[in-house]
Amino acid sequence: MARPLALASSILVGAVAITACLVYSMLGSCTLEIAPAGASGPVPILLVTAHPDDEAMFFAPSLLAVARANCCRVFILCLSNGNADGLGPLRAVELLAAAPLLGVQPTDVSVVDDPGLQDGKKQRWDQATARQLIRTAIQEHGVQMVLTFDGDGVSGHPNHKAVHEAVRAVAQEAPAATPVRYWELLSMGVVRKFLGPLDVAFSIFECQTLHRMGGGCCIEGAAAASAASMRQHASQNVWFRRWFVLLSRYSYINSWRPIMIESESLDSES
Ligand SMILES: [Zn+2]
Repeated sequence: MARPLALASSILVGAVAITACLVYSMLGSCTLEIAPAGASGPVPILLVTAHPDDEAMFFAPSLLAVARANCCRVFILCLSNGNADGLGPLRAVELLAAAPLLGVQPTDVSVVDDPGLQDGKKQRWDQATARQLIRTAIQEHGVQMVLTFDGDGVSGHPNHKAVHEAVRAVAQEAPAATPVRYWELLSMGVVRKFLGPLDVAFSIFECQTLHRMGGGCCIEGAAAASAASMRQHASQNVWFRRWFVLLSRYSYINSWRPIMIESESLDSES
């Protein structure tokens, strides 16, 4: 009886060790084409989020990959100041302090406080206002890449979904010849979401598929930077968010897909 148990334990330990080596070997890689070939000067990238702390909790691997590539200048457009609990002004200041830990200069961060874009799961966002703010940011900074949530918003928060909807609409109205490219961060089911670095191993083939579609994966050991950034978001850095940063795949891997504009689905929405 002891022998099969020992054998099973050895296999398990071996599998974990191989997986750990595999994940470790993939850290520091990003297959998303961050800077177009032949780009001269820093490529302006716009990250559109819903709340201060989204950048630290969900986008850290990509922001660190961009900082490491030393190719780009990232602007963050945060479409609300996270005022659900009356802490909006404080949270805006926290974001300015947190952003440099992920390679973004405070002067490149914009936090919006608009009556039509208030933080809250029951708040319905004014899409026209959101779209206009995104258009303006793209034009002002000469943005060539836009990064944001996908339609499920990682956590399912309605404000995250509203951000996606606005970015997608802006992508849809852009002329075909526009140099701007738009990517969405893939949401995952609850199991994969909390696999932490292990999900890197489960993402290998998926990342290849995404790359063929024009997207890709940024894989970084970003948990420490994300945690440090969250400490600057002191009003939000409660125990369950600290656990999230440690256990979430989004502290280790970001999977990106180009935002697909499907004329049929848009027609049916209008
Ligand atoms: Zn959020």
